[in-house]
Amino acid sequence: MTDKRLLVVGSVALDDLDGPFGRRPDVLGGSACYISVSASFLTKDIRLVGVVGEDFPREHVDFLRERGVDLAGLEVQAGKTFRWRGRYSETLESRDTLDTQLGVFADFRPRLDDAQRDADLVFLGNIDPVLQLDVLEQVRRPKLVACDTMNFWITRKLDDLRAVLERVDILLINDEEARQLAGVHNLVRAADAIRMMGAKAVIVKRGDSGALLFHESGAFAAPALPLAEVVDPTGAGDSFAGGFMGSLARSAELTPDAIRRAMIYGSVLASFSVEDFSLDRLRRLGPGDVAARFRAFYDLTHFEHLDL
Ligand code: AMP
Repeated sequence: MTDKRLLVVGSVALDDLDGPFGRRPDVLGGSACYISVSASFLTKDIRLVGVVGEDFPREHVDFLRERGVDLAGLEVQAGKTFRWRGRYSETLESRDTLDTQLGVFADFRPRLDDAQRDADLVFLGNIDPVLQLDVLEQVRRPKLVACDTMNFWITRKLDDLRAVLERVDILLINDEEARQLAGVHNLVRAADAIRMMGAKAVIVKRGDSGALLFHESGAFAAPALPLAEVVDPTGAGDSFAGGFMGSLARSAELTPDAIRRAMIYGSVLASFSVEDFSLDRLRRLGPGDVAARFRAFYDLTHFEHLDL
């Protein structure tokens, strides 16, 4: 069986992180990087579409390439790479965006080649919804389209985001942003309201409380692995997305069971990602690690009924 072709569009970034772990300036980040690298532990045909400036270090390109990510869609433009600066609270429970510099993303217009247009699975990572729409216009007949977004875009580009939602199968979003987008606090109702906007299913990411999938026939819950030490939560949501899409790419059919399994592989990759700064934990990950942690999730959640 050959894997499905996965197209990933999103930010490729240099992050400046601050928190109880100390300050880490100029580290690799961006939704497209976390997603592609996480997916690469599960599937092989991953094509990244994004843009960097001339200041983007060569070593990061090499790393993405070593992970087998196809970079034909990574443009290098005159100007500065997208930069994001965030600061975490002492308990890591909340984070503030201190600065977002779009840099070369401000004028980026993705131009997909034939192989990218023919992707089976498309993930529109957190990025300007105008660019997400631009990509949707270019892909031919994907079997599944999923997307992510964040408060930055909900506040600034709501109409464009709504146009994206009309055309996607699955929206991945964190709990606070689901509430903001829907204007309702209760997550079941918020997910219903978002499904009314067009997305067929909604996955609400809830940090160390796990993730909830809402779709037409009900809900499914994936826990987060209880970890004794979380170092840097940046990219947890994107690593979840990468594990999720990588698992779907590897599955023969996109059945409800395949989607449930993908929720667990998403949780597996997210659990690794937070164990070190930036993408560093993923750099040290082997295929055996992923299988072992999948087993840990199985043990964490498996139970038997009583014979009553
Ligand atoms: P997450 O922790 O999963 O929300 O992802 C964090 C990553 O998203 C960081 O590496 C940032 O570079 C990237 N990011 C932050 N803000 C934005 C934004 N407005 N648009 C695109 N990517 C962003």
